[in-house]
Amino acid sequence: MQKLYDMHMHTRFSGDSEANPKDMIAAAKERGLAGLIFTDHLDWDYWHEPHLFDLDLQHYLPYLGSLAKSESTEEFSIGVGIELGLQEHLVDRHKELVTTRPFDFVIGSIHQVNKMDPYYDDFYEGRTIEDSLTEYLECTLRNLELFHDIDTLGHLDYIVRYASRVSGEHITIDTKKYKEVLEAIFHLLIKNNICLEVNTGAFRHGLPEPNPSEELLQFYYNLGGRLLTLGADAHTPEHVALEFERIPALLKNIGFTSLIHFAHRRGTEIALE
Ligand SMILES: [Zn+2]
Ligand SMILES: [Zn+2]
Repeated sequence: MQKLYDMHMHTRFSGDSEANPKDMIAAAKERGLAGLIFTDHLDWDYWHEPHLFDLDLQHYLPYLGSLAKSESTEEFSIGVGIELGLQEHLVDRHKELVTTRPFDFVIGSIHQVNKMDPYYDDFYEGRTIEDSLTEYLECTLRNLELFHDIDTLGHLDYIVRYASRVSGEHITIDTKKYKEVLEAIFHLLIKNNICLEVNTGAFRHGLPEPNPSEELLQFYYNLGGRLLTLGADAHTPEHVALEFERIPALLKNIGFTSLIHFAHRRGTEIALE
């Protein structure tokens, strides 16, 4: 298999992971990856459980930064990034954060929609799945209109993981039904040189395809989108690089020819073999 980078993973610095960063490195090396980037959660104002995802910035960058230095080799690179939970009222704080700290890579993700996380069942109470999807995508668009200082948009259809659980069937975002808002999101990404993330964490949630779905990836490609990053969104070592072996063929089949890897917030193209 081609040597790929896993550019989305969590460790004990995230409120929902106990993973030892050294075990994540060992797992990635064992799986023959070219490298990894740590991207622990920072979701300020996480309304469901305040401070659960407040990242200990004081220790995060120094600790992982020195670990990255000591464990990186010529064949295996380690970066330190972040997964930022975007919310409209946090734009100024996020701008300040990403311009003053030396992250290698910044993922922007939508985990909060009107102070609720679609991860929880109560998000779907009193409305249809269709309305929930619309609200999620519109919230994504509003955030991207306000804030561009991210390198990739994390798991665009994150909500389908949980909407599928709640409804008991595989929910997908239909590109015809949600055409307008999807077009607006993809145009904003393309115009601002923000990548779209392919997140294989979906397989861990029992979905048959990554986030975003193949249909969404094809729609992005058709609009001219070419910049993709890849991550498994692992919270434990066994999920590092989950199902990566499926990804090159899946992407090439759509028309993509490369993935983007980041260091010091600069992207480098990695050709798909
Ligand atoms: Zn996320
Ligand atoms: Zn994540």
